[in-house]
Amino acid sequence: MKIHEYQAKEILRRYGVKTSDGIVTDSADGAAAAYETLGAPLAVVKAQIHAGGRGKGGGVKLVRSAAEARAAAALILSKPLITHQTSPEGQPVKTLLVERGSDIEKEYYVGIAIDRKTQSPVMMASSEGGMDIEEVAAHHPEKILRAAFGANGALADSEAERLARGIGLPAANVADGVAFMKSLSKAFVDLDCALAEINPLILTKDGRVLALDAKINFDSNALYRHPDVVALRDLAEEDPKEIEASKFDLSYIALDGDIGCMVNGAGLAMATMDVIKLAGGSPANFLDVGGGATKEKVKEAFKILLSDPNVKGVLVNIFGGIMKCDVIAEGVIGAVREVALKVPLVVRLEGTNVREGKALLEGSGLPIITASDLNEAARKIVAAVKA
Ligand code: ADP
Ligand code: MG
Repeated sequence: MKIHEYQAKEILRRYGVKTSDGIVTDSADGAAAAYETLGAPLAVVKAQIHAGGRGKGGGVKLVRSAAEARAAAALILSKPLITHQTSPEGQPVKTLLVERGSDIEKEYYVGIAIDRKTQSPVMMASSEGGMDIEEVAAHHPEKILRAAFGANGALADSEAERLARGIGLPAANVADGVAFMKSLSKAFVDLDCALAEINPLILTKDGRVLALDAKINFDSNALYRHPDVVALRDLAEEDPKEIEASKFDLSYIALDGDIGCMVNGAGLAMATMDVIKLAGGSPANFLDVGGGATKEKVKEAFKILLSDPNVKGVLVNIFGGIMKCDVIAEGVIGAVREVALKVPLVVRLEGTNVREGKALLEGSGLPIITASDLNEAARKIVAAVKA
């Protein structure tokens, strides 16, 4: 789960991380008033969306008067913000953070993610802040320093110091850097984060170390331990289909192809997407109805798939283990009757009661194309979509 920059900064301040003063608003007048309240000659108006690259996309503007703050806010709020991390249509901006402007001496990068190899959180720090860390990783991997730490504690002082010196913080600021890194690592562990990224961490001309940007993603599987974090969820930033799916305990992820897939089990879903690709098609989503899907779940899954205008055909590939094929077939038939299917549908069932299941589909009088194995199913749906 993602949150906004201003929310991440509120959390990090509780852990002792230093940030600039800021005021959250949702209007141009509010931004002008915020400028006055901050009382600084330089302020920054920042779009709050769940995507990075806002600066380059025009979502971060420096302003030097209340009138400039109002104009910058009006412009940012007037249209969806397009960055390399948003969809091509961009993300509507509803909230702004108006922050005291900083005189920047140097920008650094500090982030924490889970390293799957060592199965522990790892802090990454670099002298190359402000830009895409992916670029730095690709072209100057030696400029990213790493320090792993246990999931039960915070980064060791000696490791924080190695990183703080390694990225080139001046000697006078190493202690600030260490304190910041320890606070960030503590927040990461306490709050079950999946990612905590400060890009940039800055050194100001007057010698202070501040988190100028903050991005925190939380591990969804641990949210039950953090109701206060769940309260920060902004549904307007999420795909409505993914929200609907989560209500029914379905794992749904939108992709950019045109074949809607309904599968049980993540492994089978991955295999199904591969085989669709192999047959020359492109999946529109990843949808796992889970091992114990009920008729109702199958129906909801169908509705979600068909609400995507990009879906030109649907492939159902289900292995009846705990769930029997005839029950799945009933779910599919019920769903098709209810949602008035307008695109071709291929169903491949395998497992317990497969014969009964197929008989139900074939006897339903509905235009359902059946298939006996996955390759055949993929070929049939790709051909039907292309026809
Ligand atoms: P994003 O990563 O989405 O582009 P950032 O918050 O990192 O957004 O802002 C982009 C750039 O804007 C920063 O690298 C920094 O140079 C500048 N900036 C952001 N906030 C401030 C601030 N309070 N004072 C001065 N410059 C800022
Ligand atoms: Mg940034």
